[in-house]
Amino acid sequence: MVVTLCFDDAYEEVYTIGFPILTGYGIRGTLGIITNEIGGSFEGYPIMNLNQMTEMHNNGWEIASHSVTHPSLTDLNDGAVTNELANSKNTLESFGFDVNAFIVPFGAYDDRIASLVSQYYYSCRPSIWGTNSIPVADRYWLKSKWVVNTTSLGEIISWIDDAKANNTWLIIMLHNIDRSEREYNISSENLSAISQYIAEQNINVLNISEVLNPSPEVEQGGTIRETINWDALVGVGTHPFYLFSMYGVGTTESEILANQLMVHWFVKDVATGTYTTSINATVPSNAPIGTYSCLTIIADDFNTTTGDILGIYDSEVDANVLTIVPGLGATIVSTNFMRVAF
Ligand SMILES: [Zn+2]
Repeated sequence: MVVTLCFDDAYEEVYTIGFPILTGYGIRGTLGIITNEIGGSFEGYPIMNLNQMTEMHNNGWEIASHSVTHPSLTDLNDGAVTNELANSKNTLESFGFDVNAFIVPFGAYDDRIASLVSQYYYSCRPSIWGTNSIPVADRYWLKSKWVVNTTSLGEIISWIDDAKANNTWLIIMLHNIDRSEREYNISSENLSAISQYIAEQNINVLNISEVLNPSPEVEQGGTIRETINWDALVGVGTHPFYLFSMYGVGTTESEILANQLMVHWFVKDVATGTYTTSINATVPSNAPIGTYSCLTIIADDFNTTTGDILGIYDSEVDANVLTIVPGLGATIVSTNFMRVAF
């Protein structure tokens, strides 16, 4: 399971109060930025400025677009919606942020808006109550649970517990902090308590785009460069172990194995401290155009003659990890492949 903490509107107190609280527990969040109001205000409440959001981004926070002016998009024609989507993204990218997620103002959303959003963003979170399956069923209809000023600490803890029990992705939508007169508010005491609970329970907290892992595009015959964080894998033992990356079509281990495109394997010899930190792998020139998932298997034994994997430590499917497209020319598109949780 995984939890995302999403702060809509990026109020100033998310920087002054929320950022230090979360940082104290090693947690990062996602900020929904209204680009016309950076350093300004929304509904009379101050919005953080560019320096503040840049500092948070440099500490691992995700910058998501929350439109230019925070309108109800369903009230606008296609051209006006497109302006809100494209211009906010352009503004944020001009500041050097990599923007993949869109957060819908007022949750005003329908199929028309979803279609327009998909032209500019990799994912979208409107305001639909619930948690998300893993892998995600539809990344343009991400569900969430929102905190209002009457939401108790116990309720939020129960959301986290439920997500853990059901292995789902819980996005917690937050707005103001310590503005008790506001409907969408959380006290700093409750935010601290949630953060402490997440840390104590060892809950995996990731940003939206870390969960969804936007697909890198590679052409047929192109090269994928994989970077492996071996140091995050030292807990597996003291003898050599093997890490396999299997790309295939499907969302489950069996589907990927049945529809494999390619396999790479890597060895780390813990005893000698020698390992490969990265590899360039070539996509077959006849690889079907489409989207592939990656199945990662970490094994403690491997028969180099038969190719059989023995003694699996851990396996995990990353959905939509690679898209093979025609006509990229000679360009090689890189990807990072990194296992930090094990
Ligand atoms: Zn908002």
